[in-house]
Amino acid sequence: MSEESKRREALIYHAKPIPGKIKVVPTKKYSSQRDLSLAYSPGVAEPCKEIEKDKNKAYKYTAKGNLVAVISNGTAVLGLGDIGPEASKPVMEGKGLLFKIFADIDVFDIEVDTKDIDKFVETVKNIAPTFGGINLEDIKAPEAFEIERRLKEELDIPVMHDDQHGTAIISAAALLNALELAKKKIEKVKIVISGAGAAAISCSRLYQAFGAKRENMVMLDSKGVIRNDRENLSTEKAEFATSRKIDTLDQAMKDADVFIGLSMANIVSPEMLKSMAKNPIVFAMANPDPEIKYDLAIKTRKDIIMATGRSDHPNQVNNVLGFPFIFRGALDVRATKINEEMKKAAVKALAKLAKEPVPEQVNIAYGETRLTFGKEYIIPKPFDPRLIATVPPAVARAAMESGVAQKDITDWEKYEDHLLE
Ligand code: NAP
Ligand code: MG
Repeated sequence: MSEESKRREALIYHAKPIPGKIKVVPTKKYSSQRDLSLAYSPGVAEPCKEIEKDKNKAYKYTAKGNLVAVISNGTAVLGLGDIGPEASKPVMEGKGLLFKIFADIDVFDIEVDTKDIDKFVETVKNIAPTFGGINLEDIKAPEAFEIERRLKEELDIPVMHDDQHGTAIISAAALLNALELAKKKIEKVKIVISGAGAAAISCSRLYQAFGAKRENMVMLDSKGVIRNDRENLSTEKAEFATSRKIDTLDQAMKDADVFIGLSMANIVSPEMLKSMAKNPIVFAMANPDPEIKYDLAIKTRKDIIMATGRSDHPNQVNNVLGFPFIFRGALDVRATKINEEMKKAAVKALAKLAKEPVPEQVNIAYGETRLTFGKEYIIPKPFDPRLIATVPPAVARAAMESGVAQKDITDWEKYEDHLLE
């Protein structure tokens, strides 16, 4: 298909038969006068009074508990940059669609017209009573770090900036499995991180939670290696600044075990790959075009384990493996936050699932003959029906064990059956 036909197809998909990708559907009967008097006045006053007495009753009498806000200000949309709130709406609606189909979570997408951190935080705080959770999306770094931190502190519902943590969770699962295949220890590996934005910082932090050592990491931004003698570093960049006296990606890649790309297309050369250690792990995740093309990388190093953000190659690091299931688990125990323990539980559940035999329907969905754990299959596929019964229970359990759950699940088998319905 030509680029022009792909473009037209995408526009028609969004425009027809009704504009957009999601709509609101009533969940109660509404055919008689009696139904309406229950749905609205006077019947509706009864739940109002109950909730006035106890705010938590909103979870019993309204859609709050299964409703997530996908909120953006349109400042870092896909690879398109700062395109504004209206132009970000197709992405936010798309996220709503994914939440719904993968985890049966309802979404209101909210596009906020401000770049001001205080105003954005205030807006989200003011509308938070509507929701069971907040998914922040496509907000520019470094503003995104402060926005997320403040909302997490100030709200008592789960808040997650998916561009940071989604990517971190999925790529950490892939990394653990890749390291196992390459027979390398996370505590020992030398890691190069290209990019110092929302995704790269959060990934690097989560890898540390799994044992990666900061002194073994070298991070680069658009100016080159982030050295600790560079001036005017943001707090987040300073956290990963190296004491090594190197400046370029070329130098950083020499003898590295792992390359994490969350930066720009085509900045890694075959020569750089050749200079990496044996069994190199290369996650070139810049979208839509990776830091090095998949085919070129595979051709250059026979011993490589490679992942990208793309669906047309093996090992796609795709956030859809995370956010629907993480929020599902968090909502189901009414967690007050999505904490480190819950994120780590999601990572482990994803990594473990990739090692289990793949159901035939997944092979069929992806036109594969036999997906098995190995260099070309280090993370589950998004259409794996086992995800919904695997990740949410792991997240919910971690929430309970770490003391942020406000509701306990006791019958896990029943819960898993319910997830599969
Ligand atoms: P971001 O916050 O805008 O960060 C981009 C970072 O890349 C910045 O730190 C920037 O440096 C750095 N950069 C730019 N050119 C560079 C170069 N030549 N060498 C090294 N670093 C360079 O964006 P983000 O949300 O973190 O996303 C970054 C990339 O990862 C995008 O392509 C995005 O599509 C991709 N991504 C993929 C996935 C996935 O595969 N699932 C998930 C998330 C993000 P400065 O700080 O100096 O500006
Ligand atoms: Mg995003």
